Amino acid sequence: MTEKIYEYKDDNNWFIGKGSFANMFSSFGENGREQDISRLAHQLDQLIFPRYEDDFNQCVAIEVIRLQSDVQLIQFALEILNDLNDRQFRVAHHKGTVLIIEGEKLYSVYVSTNGVSLKDFFGQSDTGFGDTLLIATKNEGKTKEFRQCFDKMGIKVENLNDYPDLPDVEETGTTFEANARLKAETIAKLTGKMVLADDSGLKVDALGGLPGVWSARFSGPDATDAKNNAKLLHELQMVFNQSDRTAQFHCCLVVASPDKESLVVEAEWPGYIGMQAQGDNGFGYDPLFLVGETGRTAAQLSSDEKNEQSHRGLAVKKLMEVFPTWLNTH
Ligand code: IMP
Repeated sequence: MTEKIYEYKDDNNWFIGKGSFANMFSSFGENGREQDISRLAHQLDQLIFPRYEDDFNQCVAIEVIRLQSDVQLIQFALEILNDLNDRQFRVAHHKGTVLIIEGEKLYSVYVSTNGVSLKDFFGQSDTGFGDTLLIATKNEGKTKEFRQCFDKMGIKVENLNDYPDLPDVEETGTTFEANARLKAETIAKLTGKMVLADDSGLKVDALGGLPGVWSARFSGPDATDAKNNAKLLHELQMVFNQSDRTAQFHCCLVVASPDKESLVVEAEWPGYIGMQAQGDNGFGYDPLFLVGETGRTAAQLSSDEKNEQSHRGLAVKKLMEVFPTWLNTH
């Protein structure tokens, strides 16, 4: 078969390329640039050059006789590849880097030895992968729990205390999902950020699912945990058998991002409503919530024990399983 020879030459650059048994770049007459050339070759080799051992038409050898423009050399290599392999690679420039693109796909980013600042490249500061998650809460305790999970993925977590000018979002929905969506999607629209909102509450079977989405306000506009618990005991005073006092804590998490379908996960924690309050840990209805058949209330568990099995802990675990896939879909 015939071997193809390629050449590029201008006042400052001169390259010769040909089909070869192996992918390789060699520096022929360009002293002092060997390192740059081998770095370039390595990057192109790793990311683009196919390596078919039996088909030397797929491989390229380039001799660099004169080099001033790295971009010119990348372009030359891509033109050979396009010709030999029927590809459509092209270069584009972004914030001081050279992107190697084919159609709508990015294949490689070539950065000069001086590097470029992440802030310039991503258009925002110190986020590593450019992802920040805004938790739709002012509660630092909740934020800390979520931060522990998302830190591992290189995602920076902030909360509404970082955005004091945002208006409060009224929870006017009649389901946990509707309320969580309302918070996450409204704040995502207002800020242009990826937002996580949660909505949770207690559902008591003997009360037809109440207090449900009204858990925080069960005893009225000036509700407190103590008043809510007192009202719950009052409502259940005629339900004498423990086995008839079944209940579930429910948690719904919604992640919203502008121009993207929201991600929704839900989880429940089953138990019973006790005859009187017990335990000092936790918050809300914890002192009345008997965990399964244990006879202990949620307020008698350590926070680690509670997170292991609670509605919120389970929902976060579910979210961690599906979040990476959701993040990568358009
Ligand atoms: P929110 O989802 O943080 O707005 O919580 C709504 C209400 O549900 C809280 O004010 C509590 O009354 C109740 N609640 C939610 N999760 C828990 C829990 O883990 N323990 C006790 N009460 C909870």
